[in-house]
Amino acid sequence: MAGWKVRAIERFLNILARLLFPPKCIFCGKVLSINVNVEICADCIKEVSFIDDMDIRSRKFWSRKNWYDGIICVYQYNSVVKSSIVRYKFYNRSSYYRTFGKILADRIKKTIKISDFDLIMSVPLHKNKERRRGYNQSLLISKVLSKELGLRESSSLLIRTKDTGSQSLLNRKDRLENLKGAFKVRSEDAIRNKNILLVDDVMTTGSTIDECSKVLKKAGAAKVVAAVIATGRKY
Ligand SMILES: [Zn+2]
Repeated sequence: MAGWKVRAIERFLNILARLLFPPKCIFCGKVLSINVNVEICADCIKEVSFIDDMDIRSRKFWSRKNWYDGIICVYQYNSVVKSSIVRYKFYNRSSYYRTFGKILADRIKKTIKISDFDLIMSVPLHKNKERRRGYNQSLLISKVLSKELGLRESSSLLIRTKDTGSQSLLNRKDRLENLKGAFKVRSEDAIRNKNILLVDDVMTTGSTIDECSKVLKKAGAAKVVAAVIATGRKY
């Protein structure tokens, strides 16, 4: 079939899907008009707490040595942002990935020079956890970013070999211990000398991102910059 016909059919199906399942604000659930680009209502845009700094690494608490070279983050992890991400991860609202991906893509474009980067990848879930959840929330966002930024989606190069369970109740020291040896690079050749954007949904203590960055750097990555939707770090 001719390319324009395929595109016309895709467009039609897209409109049909939006009529049947109208877009809703990912924060408050309000129904939005069918042609919105980002599924957030005008009230919630005013409500949420953005992080102003483009690269939050400049904050004082990053003074200790980290393996990553920078963090790009959009929101504070509180109120409606927090409940939305919890729904996204644990209550099957996988469709939020479109909006989270677009918001994060905008922030990344404003923060770094995309052409300096080679690959984009997500923090992997252990295969058992991904099977239970049905999707990897960070991988879905990474796929949107790959499209929006024109970077090769390379999440399959990094795997999680250890099922670390939930980290949320552990303190920083125990998290680090629990994460030791949890990640592995599949092909060092594909990583060597590459500048990598590493995607995750939320950063709490930063230990997961740091452990992934360590594994990537040890495999020869030149630079690792993390991109996350929200952070729970207080400052
Ligand atoms: Zn809203």
